[in-house]
Amino acid sequence: MSRNLIPLSVAATLFGGTASADVPNVAADIAPLHSLVARVMQGVGEPSLIVAPGGSPHEYSLRPSEATALQEADLVFWVSPELTPWLEGAIATLASDATVTELLDVDGTMGIPFREGPLFEAHGHGNEDDGEQDHEDHAEGDQHEHDNHEAHADADRHEGRDHGEHDPHAWLSPDNGAVWLNAIAAQLSAADPDNAGAYFANAAAGREELATLSAEINGILEPVRGRNFIVFHDAYHYFETAFDFPASGAISVSDASDPSPARIAEIQARVAEQDVTCVLSEPQFDPGMVAAVMDGSEANTGVLDPLGSDLEPGPDLYGNVLRNLATALADCL
Ligand SMILES: [Zn+2]
Repeated sequence: MSRNLIPLSVAATLFGGTASADVPNVAADIAPLHSLVARVMQGVGEPSLIVAPGGSPHEYSLRPSEATALQEADLVFWVSPELTPWLEGAIATLASDATVTELLDVDGTMGIPFREGPLFEAHGHGNEDDGEQDHEDHAEGDQHEHDNHEAHADADRHEGRDHGEHDPHAWLSPDNGAVWLNAIAAQLSAADPDNAGAYFANAAAGREELATLSAEINGILEPVRGRNFIVFHDAYHYFETAFDFPASGAISVSDASDPSPARIAEIQARVAEQDVTCVLSEPQFDPGMVAAVMDGSEANTGVLDPLGSDLEPGPDLYGNVLRNLATALADCL
């Protein structure tokens, strides 16, 4: 008997259609991306979150429930292997049948090359738009060590997507968030055409919300523009670019590994020499590092949370992450 002869509704029952009216099972890696997916699915279904609130995507161990969510997923959305190298293998083994979307690869996404040194102004004169030029300057992908210039000799490795040309913290630009809402709606609609209208309408509404939010954030940052601040790990380049609000440096590199003593010394000197008003820690990492950098300085301290660790996962989290970054910066500066 051919499946083609069975009415679709019966086929769904016979061949294991999901209970919730054929809405696909969806998993997303980090809370901000999960939030964008949840916004697109609002009123239709809810995605699963892989990296639990409070976890660092740079280093993470899957819990059994999270592995199950991957296993059951029809669609997986994740940022990129540069952010969550451990997830690449998990997706390949647990979600081999799923449709997997790597958002950093989506057309229209702004990708910013890694920056390597602890002090940013050498890279900060608008040349982040010039990918090729910066490309020369960054040490190769997985190393994430600055001054590792010998790695540049191996130019072939740039062709390997896995070696990571781009800083993966790309969700911190609302422009990327807007692009991704569309990409998420397109993937969901392909998997679930019955709800395509809802997915695209939600994505359109979400983009309007982001436009409003961007204006609000510019208003929050306006009174403190031009002040100097140091961030904990180099995660905010997209936010800095989106809102033209550059940081002076980062204590730790983009993959949040422990900084070298030399790097800490450079940051300490910067805090002492320049008028650094604020040094920011993060909930996921060791606050002792900030204390070391702050030694003898009168700068303020604050906390930036690029993931929304304290926020309830769901459609509103994404906007709240960005708004909270702006508020924390304005308060600290
Ligand atoms: Zn990070």
